[in-house]
Amino acid sequence: MKLRFVYGILPVLIFAIKRNIHMDAMTKWFIIPYIIIEDEDYNNKDLLVHELTHAKQMYKGLVLFYFIRRWASHNFILKCEREAYKAQGLSDKDISMKLLKY
Ligand SMILES: [Zn+2]
Repeated sequence: MKLRFVYGILPVLIFAIKRNIHMDAMTKWFIIPYIIIEDEDYNNKDLLVHELTHAKQMYKGLVLFYFIRRWASHNFILKCEREAYKAQGLSDKDISMKLLKY
């Protein structure tokens, strides 16, 4: 388990899981946001930047509003994912390709 901070002071926990559970990296919320990443991606900095961007979005949206907006608006999901992929350093073209799966 790792502990990271977004905005300098807001905590995010990062957990590694075994590959055979087969789960994409994801950012969830309990008492503080946490990120679940497969073992072999545990040190993947690009993926971590992507998921930490979602943690920032959660804090910025006061968590509840973030999830309500994600549930209610496909455009909000696309906006969040675009921002996370941009933070990850992907080009606009690559981001557009990634967003096709949403
Ligand atoms: Zn994402």
